[in-house]
Amino acid sequence: MIRIEGATVAYRGRAALRDVSLHIGAGERVAIIGPNGAGKSTLLRLVAGLLAPATGSVELGGERVDRLDRLAVARRLAVVPQLPTLPFATSVEEVVALGRLPHEHPVRGMRPGDRAAVAAAIERVGVGHLLGRDARELSLGERQLVLLAMAVAQAAPILILDEPTVHLDLRHQVEVMELVGDLNARDGTTILAVLHDLGLAAHFFPRLVLLDRGRIVADGSPAEVLTPERVREVFGVDPEFVRLRAPR
Ligand code: ADP
Ligand code: MG
Repeated sequence: MIRIEGATVAYRGRAALRDVSLHIGAGERVAIIGPNGAGKSTLLRLVAGLLAPATGSVELGGERVDRLDRLAVARRLAVVPQLPTLPFATSVEEVVALGRLPHEHPVRGMRPGDRAAVAAAIERVGVGHLLGRDARELSLGERQLVLLAMAVAQAAPILILDEPTVHLDLRHQVEVMELVGDLNARDGTTILAVLHDLGLAAHFFPRLVLLDRGRIVADGSPAEVLTPERVREVFGVDPEFVRLRAPR
């Protein structure tokens, strides 16, 4: 589903990803973890076709992402970005409806199926109480949920999330993780999420990919990846801080 081969990315000559290869199959649920600046967001941008690698290649469903136009990418993959900035004055329902743009009819615009998908996404993410509000006035956590609803409405086979829980209280963190799990288990959506919380990652994701200074240093189950030595080496903290709970 997602295939990265030997990708190197540099920003103004400074490498952010070095020779990264990663294969993610359809229906997988994968969390990217690693310290600040490790290259996690860069990896997501690479998969979304938002930046091109200096070397190597990225394929989505067997097609090179750099040969797909934005609309074709948007039908394959939905992105929940890290910093929820909303560019213009819009109601919550208008933001969620943006998720239907890749599906809309070029002349007739939103059709009944699109409206149903928007309503279903609002219901599923639980943002019905925010309808009618100006999206710019929402708290960061509320914006994060609205952008998640937009991505759900997009109904793409791949969902990419960049730290989707940073602005959320604990209850909403767990609810978002459960929703992502449900999209994966029930809808078969392939999930690739950057998570800063190792506990949430280990609890909700069967496969973790650990990035450190632009390289993949471990890839496997939470128990395989989050060994005490690695937690100490890569994160520089006492492994006691990362107690693994049994994954679902
Ligand atoms: P992470 O998401 O793991 O915290 P990023 O992928 O955002 O890391 O960044 C990886 C490295 O690339 C960091 O050193 C960061 O400062 C640098 N970087 C990220 N985006 C840019 C950019 N637009 N221009 C220059 N450097 C960048
Ligand atoms: Mg980041």
